[in-house]
Amino acid sequence: MTDYDFDACVIGAGFAGMYMLKRLRDAGFTTHVFETADDVGGTWYWNRYPGARCDVESLYYCYSFDEELQQEWEWSERYPAQQEILRYCQHVADRYDLRADISFSTTVESAIYSDDTRLWTLRTTTGREVTARYLISAVGCLSAARVPDFPGLDAFRGETYHTGQWPHEGVDFSGKRVAVVGTGSSGIQAIPAIARYAEDVTVFQRTPNYSVPARNRPLDPAEQAKVKADYPRLRAEARMTPAGTLAEPTGKSVFEVPEDERRAELDRRWENGGAAFLAAFADTMLNVEANEFSADYVRGKIREIVRDPDTAEKLTPRDYPLGAKRICVDTDYYATYNRPNVHLVDLRANPIETITPTGIRAGGTDHEFDAIVFATGYDAMTGPLNRIDIRGTNGQRLRDKWSAGPRTYLGVATAGFPNLFIITGPGSPSVLSNMIVSIEQHVEWVADYLEYLRDKGFTRVEAALDAEDQWVDHVNEVASATLYPKAASWYLGANVPGKPRVFMPYLGGVDVYRGICDDVAGSDYKGFLLQ
Ligand code: FAD
Repeated sequence: MTDYDFDACVIGAGFAGMYMLKRLRDAGFTTHVFETADDVGGTWYWNRYPGARCDVESLYYCYSFDEELQQEWEWSERYPAQQEILRYCQHVADRYDLRADISFSTTVESAIYSDDTRLWTLRTTTGREVTARYLISAVGCLSAARVPDFPGLDAFRGETYHTGQWPHEGVDFSGKRVAVVGTGSSGIQAIPAIARYAEDVTVFQRTPNYSVPARNRPLDPAEQAKVKADYPRLRAEARMTPAGTLAEPTGKSVFEVPEDERRAELDRRWENGGAAFLAAFADTMLNVEANEFSADYVRGKIREIVRDPDTAEKLTPRDYPLGAKRICVDTDYYATYNRPNVHLVDLRANPIETITPTGIRAGGTDHEFDAIVFATGYDAMTGPLNRIDIRGTNGQRLRDKWSAGPRTYLGVATAGFPNLFIITGPGSPSVLSNMIVSIEQHVEWVADYLEYLRDKGFTRVEAALDAEDQWVDHVNEVASATLYPKAASWYLGANVPGKPRVFMPYLGGVDVYRGICDDVAGSDYKGFLLQ
């Protein structure tokens, strides 16, 4: 008998929470998951907007932990659409009977640690209170949707939507005048899909983004079978790449390659489609001139595709490096602006002044709409955690500790918050990788750690402050050697007014990072205080 409810509680039932539950249950830990939604899937439960699709290829955007699972699931397209990923998550939940240990429609409001009992107490929106030895956050990096605080928003008489909280029954835009605010990854996917059936679409763009074509297509069964036959090797290879994907890097500096071959390499990647475009040259994210070569290539493509030169110019990113904001992967994005029913408003020249009862006033002009779609992104990485009242030793709040930016050891633990683990937290490669690869690595590492603690009889584990300080310095040092901090991106918190500008993900690569984590585990978890 224990004097607490669960060995571990997990917050979130997306890819991370589901696998965490399975691993801990398999290892004999009593485990319970809390999830706001009424089913599994996380990102792919919430993001049901038209055009929602993953940028990582289907055959790699899925779990690799169970050979039978990865063999039995059949993907239909090169890149999976939201509905297909959600069905996959539901299949996983059924297959391992995960729902038995998940409380749905239940949000964790607070989690408070007691050093007397070495337990976490969780309180939920359903009035439940439970205790657990370990608390594992699987709240996701991009799950705290945000709409900027536009004046007049409440007065709008039409419909409003956020891409990350899309109605389950779908939205019929036919015959409607629709505004889409935001041109990040979600906006770039949604705009062409909405433009196909709305009467009129006006896009409000603050920052033009670089986007490369996806070249999505049905997945050829022979191609699928070939990959599956070689899955163990391909998966192992992907795990040992910087981004957890098989992007076929040339490994060469752009300057080593003769000019006509450089262009041919980019042509090949543009035709092939996908974010592997960024891996054409080894120095794209390290050197401004190298980056400019690929950036200029995309600018040329925009000029080629978009017929109206003024619109093309507005869509062209010029003041930050390619890739420093998440590169977008699209289907017909730029070409959509050739449609007569699509218009672009450049918010840099014409900022939104107010939402009016009938539309949006920007740069002194009133635009009338039946619906406004906010593709305005997320309070990334720290947002979902800071929305929970998490208190560690001496009542310290996590959001206070992180008020100048997140501080973690390995992205997985933070000093002053014993027995708390964060899956793909700030300070880990997370959003700069194929997230499934990063999630599997973290979940397995944390599960192994809990087994170690149980075997050794420890009941309290905390990141040491000096180890954390060193890790934060390392994360910053690696980031500042790259071009990533040169864009006002959500990686830096720049999309949220008042959020501290700290580069949050770790840029050392999932391969290097895995080695560091393994080394920490292999040395009896150096950098942690165990009791
Ligand atoms: P999530 O899937 O975000 O799940 C977290 C869950 O926690 C949510 O269901 C949420 O409801 C729940 N939760 C949060 N707080 C609480 C609380 N207090 N109480 C209870 N429940 C809570 N990644 C890629 O690798 N490639 C891509 O191409 C890609 N495309 C993306 C496109 C979009 C539009 C978005 C939003 C994300 C994309 N991602 C992509 C990132 C994606 O989030 C991850 O790949 C992955 O789905 C994350 O899984 P997760 O379980 O960590 O988090």
